[in-house]
Amino acid sequence: MNSRIVRALALLLSLTAAWQLAAAEPTVNIILWFDTEDYLLPADDDAAKRLAVMLTERGIHATFKVVGEKARTLESRGRKDVIAALKKHSIGYHANYHSVHPAPTEYLADCGLLDGIEEFARREGGGAADVRRIFGVNTLACYGQPGSSWGSQAIAGLKQIGVAPHGVPCYVDEGSHVGLNNKPFWYANALVVYSMGRGRAYTRMDLHSDDGVEPAKKEVSAMAEKFRREGGGLISIYYHPCEWVNKQFWDGVNFARGANPPREQWKPPPQRPPEETEAAFRRFGEYIDHIRTIPGVRWITATDLPVVYPDLVRTEGASEKDLDQIAEALRGKAEVNFRTIGKRAYSAADQFELLTTVVGELIDGKKPRFPVTAKGLLGPDGEPPASRTEAHLDWFAFRDAARDVRSYIQAHGRVPARVFIGPDPVPPADFLAALASAYEFHRKNGKLPMEDGVSLGSKVELLPVQHIAKDTPNLFGGWVIHRQGFQAPKVLEVARLQAWTLKPAVRKD
Ligand SMILES: [Zn+2]
Repeated sequence: MNSRIVRALALLLSLTAAWQLAAAEPTVNIILWFDTEDYLLPADDDAAKRLAVMLTERGIHATFKVVGEKARTLESRGRKDVIAALKKHSIGYHANYHSVHPAPTEYLADCGLLDGIEEFARREGGGAADVRRIFGVNTLACYGQPGSSWGSQAIAGLKQIGVAPHGVPCYVDEGSHVGLNNKPFWYANALVVYSMGRGRAYTRMDLHSDDGVEPAKKEVSAMAEKFRREGGGLISIYYHPCEWVNKQFWDGVNFARGANPPREQWKPPPQRPPEETEAAFRRFGEYIDHIRTIPGVRWITATDLPVVYPDLVRTEGASEKDLDQIAEALRGKAEVNFRTIGKRAYSAADQFELLTTVVGELIDGKKPRFPVTAKGLLGPDGEPPASRTEAHLDWFAFRDAARDVRSYIQAHGRVPARVFIGPDPVPPADFLAALASAYEFHRKNGKLPMEDGVSLGSKVELLPVQHIAKDTPNLFGGWVIHRQGFQAPKVLEVARLQAWTLKPAVRKD
């Protein structure tokens, strides 16, 4: 053979091998996001642009979560250059006015689920529309709250502030109100990157100290290495463009601890001297360039999240085998939890929806057609009633209640707060056990338990509640904009009810 052909073949073979190795290498995804929020100091516009440009030059896509008032300020200052630079990245949303009181947890503090969703949409919807219009994007990739101003109603409300029917599909932020093992998860029907945990799946470098550079490089490398060993993972890194130019946070200067000066008295924050800003950009460049050299690392944005973590229960649905497993796990247990089977994760609400659908078809004398998809219910809008002492339900009482539940979830799209057995309300988790027992009976006997009746669960515990934070003076009050020690127990009450919807986000690859 001609030696040139041999060399070409050898090269081709080695390239193929390298490609296969790369394909086999577990991917460590990194999401880099910027809360782009300072609408007071013009230097922040330039900082945001410079970050966007330096990342574009390196072929990196980041996520810029833009405050509504920031977008309007860029527009009124004529900063088309900034808008164009940011638009090369993924555009998310970061509240309408960010720190002007009332902040989200302040106005959600006394709301339930439904009025909270409406209030979130009323206060934040206009800003979301402005960011979409000014940046010329159809879909905002994500939302994340100002400071620690969190509420499950905001997550459930994301469907209402974007383009129907999906609205804003993701929630990207960092905090400890809800979390699932420092990994992405589904909650209130949004894909959520949150509570990734400092030093576990969330890292950052101190921009303003040379001593911070090497430890930060080491930390992100170790994190990537750990995830590679585990077969892949997601690392979250975030900054605010204003950190490069402000001596003090823009909102702390104006809105600290409940202060709420009128717009006419808003003051720009003190600015850093140019040499400090330059040094911060130099360190950041070094940090980013280091991350680029870590093997197996891939930069993703909030726009990529739904592709990386598709919810197959919504698209492909549950197989009969999956539902058998779900019903089996629920039978005779005084608890309900989310369940992952293969690449599909089922929240407690998904299990409730699927069993209601399938048992309803059986009641109607139809043969269920698998796979069955779950549209995704919200959790209940109120606390459950007390459990009944009598667990046994005769068939007709169960049948009529099951039909009523099916009608309820079709009408309201959420798990009912109470299921009626004639005049008596029972908790939905107790009724889920009854649905599972009817399904199981049919599976084993080929008929529904018309003679035997079904047993209702008793005091069935919703285990995912343990992933919702306990209220402490620091949980909300730790943010300098909220009043010192500000607590919002009702926000966490509503959040616990939405634990019905909590489940891991499962990676496609
Ligand atoms: Zn912010």
